[in-house]
Amino acid sequence: MAETRDLVLEALVASAGAPVSGEAIAHDLGVSRAAVAKHVASLKESGFEITAQHGTGYSIDLATVLAPPAVSRFLADPASLHLLGGGDTGSTMDDARALVERGAPDGTVVLASRQTSGRGRLGRSWESPKGGVYFSLIARPTIPVAEAVSLPLAACLGIAEGLDSLGAHASVKWPNDLELEGGKLAGILMEMSAEADCVAWVIIGVGINVLRPDEPIERAAYLESSVPGLPLSQVAAVAVDGIRSAIAEAGSAGFASMRGRYERRFVALGHEVVLTNPDGTLVAEGIARGIDEVGRLVVARDDGELIVSSGDLSLRAHPTRRADRDSGPLAVS
Ligand code: ATP
Repeated sequence: MAETRDLVLEALVASAGAPVSGEAIAHDLGVSRAAVAKHVASLKESGFEITAQHGTGYSIDLATVLAPPAVSRFLADPASLHLLGGGDTGSTMDDARALVERGAPDGTVVLASRQTSGRGRLGRSWESPKGGVYFSLIARPTIPVAEAVSLPLAACLGIAEGLDSLGAHASVKWPNDLELEGGKLAGILMEMSAEADCVAWVIIGVGINVLRPDEPIERAAYLESSVPGLPLSQVAAVAVDGIRSAIAEAGSAGFASMRGRYERRFVALGHEVVLTNPDGTLVAEGIARGIDEVGRLVVARDDGELIVSSGDLSLRAHPTRRADRDSGPLAVS
């Protein structure tokens, strides 16, 4: 059964941004006005921006709130998901990790409208001010570990296809970023646990820049520059739905079925690229030829093709020839 605090939040969201009196909420929920005031205070403490106006009541701004009941309204199949959080947190990845270790089911999503310690890949930080969409989704797909490595790519594609429905056409940057108009729109992160050769769970973490903050992040893109006026909760819902259908497709048909769609959005396809390790040392240079059936990058070089499993990809400044060489592939991780 939902807790009173959640029901108070739901009542505020249900009033669609119009003020609702504490008395009306108290009456509907069968609790005292003091109890409503206490729960509103607790929600504000958790980062929900709720305005209290004397004589009219409480209101919540639906454009910027990422509360579970607000996101739920935009989901294709809300009953299959379990949404939590929505206010401020340290890291949704940490929250989801604690939940998955306690047995949280497939479809659990931890939302946040701000993170104080948002993470990127390899311990990098993900700046997460208000105005973005941050969440971590727990999935328990029945796929072999060898195929799970392509899930971050599948998730990127799923989000990009979801954003298409909102009128924003994002590109993908291998392995785990979404770009819009040359800037970084979103980052995806995955943590995984396996038993024998099968995936026990994955947590897919997502950060999407939506509203431009007063101090924009260097090289970031903001969704509102392309499509103004999107509620954060709608962006979160299409991203969650997009990831879930991508995971389902990866489970049933494998990443191979998505590979062509990923390549069509791939910013570096046919361009000269440089791949480096986290410490800056070179992994490979060449022409980004494509993505293989498990999500690895295929780089064409003078001495043949190289298959790259991980690395930081950057485009060389000048566009260049497409390579057409066909020697046997080498594998690099
Ligand atoms: P890059 O794409 O820069 O090579 P990465 O893919 O290795 O980064 P990510 O985990 O995707 O790493 O993101 C972390 C990096 O993204 C940070 O090091 C920082 O440069 C940048 N960054 C952090 N927060 C944001 C944000 N909100 N929007 C855009 N870029 C960000």
